[in-house]
Amino acid sequence: MQTIRGFRDILPEHISLWQKVEKEAFALFESFGFKEIRIPVLEKTELFARSIGETTDIVEKEMYTFPDSKGNGLTLRPEATASIARSYIQHKMYAADPVRKFYMTGPMFRRERPQKGRYRQFYQIDVEVFGVESAYADVELIFLLNDLFKRLGLTGLSAHINSLGCPECRPAFQKALLDFLGERKDLLCENCARRIQKNPLRILDCKTASCQKALEGAPATINHLCPACDDHFTIVRTTLEKQGVEFIVDKSLVRGLDYYTRTAWEIKTTTLGAQSAVAGGGRYDGLVKELGGPATPAIGFAIGFDRLVEVMEQLEIESIKPTLDLFIVALGDQAMEKAYQWSCELNQQGVRTEVDFRGKSLKSLMKRANKLNANHVLIAGEDELNKNQLILRNMNTKDQTFIAIDNLVPELMTILKK
Ligand code: ATP
Ligand code: MG
Repeated sequence: MQTIRGFRDILPEHISLWQKVEKEAFALFESFGFKEIRIPVLEKTELFARSIGETTDIVEKEMYTFPDSKGNGLTLRPEATASIARSYIQHKMYAADPVRKFYMTGPMFRRERPQKGRYRQFYQIDVEVFGVESAYADVELIFLLNDLFKRLGLTGLSAHINSLGCPECRPAFQKALLDFLGERKDLLCENCARRIQKNPLRILDCKTASCQKALEGAPATINHLCPACDDHFTIVRTTLEKQGVEFIVDKSLVRGLDYYTRTAWEIKTTTLGAQSAVAGGGRYDGLVKELGGPATPAIGFAIGFDRLVEVMEQLEIESIKPTLDLFIVALGDQAMEKAYQWSCELNQQGVRTEVDFRGKSLKSLMKRANKLNANHVLIAGEDELNKNQLILRNMNTKDQTFIAIDNLVPELMTILKK
């Protein structure tokens, strides 16, 4: 049996970078006041169709959707924001305190063409803030993301930011865009030609060469912002500048989901070729109301966890190799029984200890101690048990000492400085 196309195992030998990221990220998020939320993997199709947008690539062709036994459409989540907004509304979180800050990590599912950095099950680290309209919430998230990547030792990244405006300024922009595209309609790909009336903004996100050509010199959202959106974006830019966070204003950045308003951004890397976006975020002030909740401004970002780890591997950012404090070489049944008990006790006390229960020879057990990167080896053979003295070998210095069995655990703890 094999995994299905676009799905993969992440094996224990590759997990340390994932864990390093989780540890670093969650500690940073907690210190900024974010709380972890866990949401289901499966939701009603309608949730994603309504929030992400009927004419987006995700909803039109990338979702894993199937009917339940009653024929209702269910979908494996392609992203987390919609579900978190649903949860915020469902549990009336806004009533007790409208300001909520969440983070989560978990798998997302999109039926895309699999390639390096693009999978059908992939992982995201997601951060969302509900209830704050101020531009400082936007800056804080961009800063937070930037700081996390710095802490992880990432280089070669660039932040692209844009403002997509709001329902106030969008109609005028859409008209300007439609007027501009008027004579260039023939250049648009089939998909965009079909979407143009329903959702002209989607065309800006199309990667087809002919659409890109049609868009040369197209109007930009930032030149059509209403005064409120303009002020908002100004605070974002000037504050980032003051903080020394580098960014590029990218007029062509619109993001692949319909719910975004005002600030949108993407962090791109030079190390992954075509799959260059390691994280993306934006404001979505209309989503909570659209899904049936009270009007609530909100903003968030998602990190592509798989891609982040790939960048770290490319940059050879190593995480600590797992080591063992103690490996017990137990020779014979009597030694095995004792070793088992010592090992349980030591592990309970925080000394990372292992015993090999297969009854192997001294030589092969020493080999295994090396393989497991054991710092110390305790040798318990019949002879040692009879003499009431075991041998403790420091695998780094090769020094050997004797330890009396009677006081074994406390003495080992002192020697191993636990
Ligand atoms: P892309 O332009 O690469 O398709 P996207 O705009 O569709 O990305 P988002 O929906 O913004 O992606 O998701 C946030 C992040 O999740 C992306 O920046 C990327 O790092 C990661 N991501 C998205 N789709 C995949 C995928 N199929 N496999 C791996 N990572 C992905
Ligand atoms: Mg995509």
